[in-house]
Amino acid sequence: MRQLQEMTAAVFDFDKTVAETFRPSPNGLGTEEAYALAVSMVLGKHGEQVYRGQGLGNRAPTELVRDILKAGSMPDMLSCAQMYLEMNAAILDGLVPPGKGMPLVWSEEKQVEVIGELLTRAKLMVLVDELSHHPDGSIWPEPCSGVLEFMRELQKRGIATAILSSGHELFITRAFELWGAEAPLMLTDDDVRGLTSVSLNEKMKPHPFLFELLIRKWQDVQSWAHEPAHRRRFFYFGDDIVKDGRLAASAGLRFGLYDPESTVTAEMPTDQFRFADWRDLTKAMQAT
Ligand SMILES: [Mg+2]
Repeated sequence: MRQLQEMTAAVFDFDKTVAETFRPSPNGLGTEEAYALAVSMVLGKHGEQVYRGQGLGNRAPTELVRDILKAGSMPDMLSCAQMYLEMNAAILDGLVPPGKGMPLVWSEEKQVEVIGELLTRAKLMVLVDELSHHPDGSIWPEPCSGVLEFMRELQKRGIATAILSSGHELFITRAFELWGAEAPLMLTDDDVRGLTSVSLNEKMKPHPFLFELLIRKWQDVQSWAHEPAHRRRFFYFGDDIVKDGRLAASAGLRFGLYDPESTVTAEMPTDQFRFADWRDLTKAMQAT
């Protein structure tokens, strides 16, 4: 943990790193359940069956759509998606900031992307409704235990912080509001879905292109982020050893795996580390 002393910038994954979005809300809705509902709304019963069989597996929406279409009865699902778009375009419009995401216009050439956009917005519609103080006194989602204190400690020390997530701007911004904290600068899936000149692969973790895009909008770090020696002073924190860990490795960043239940058994590269409690990191920072 001594390596934390070298940190000058910190990047956080969001789901299951900063927020417990996979724990269901009091209404029984978490990310996986919201996706199941969204898949059934957009791709119909058949799509939902395929999804239930595959599970979510930390896939981004377009990745999910691509896999479901490959595995199921395509014509049924396509006509279902087209109808969903026609009936719901107006409601789905406000869920993604203007100019971000994919335009909500049916396109034969970009079916996977347009359906991914529909799925994203349908899922967001479900989840944004859950994001609040609930009558039983709980809030959903809860921040991962100790993470907000760690972020505050970094900010106090002038360490630049950002979020790099396959999630969505409106949701993340509102979650921080709910926690009474200010959301850091972020690059989310909303920023990349509409990029037409970029391959699907590049738009998804663990591709390091996402980190390069983050740097382009992150003025605090721009002047030094491209020097390899300084790259090593970026720390990336995430809960997925493949999606987050490999992204960090290929972008040249240090990686800390948040593994609160010690479920990851894979060996970690020697320059990466794992931790189970954000408080340990806060303490390590305070000891310097
Ligand atoms: Mg995550």
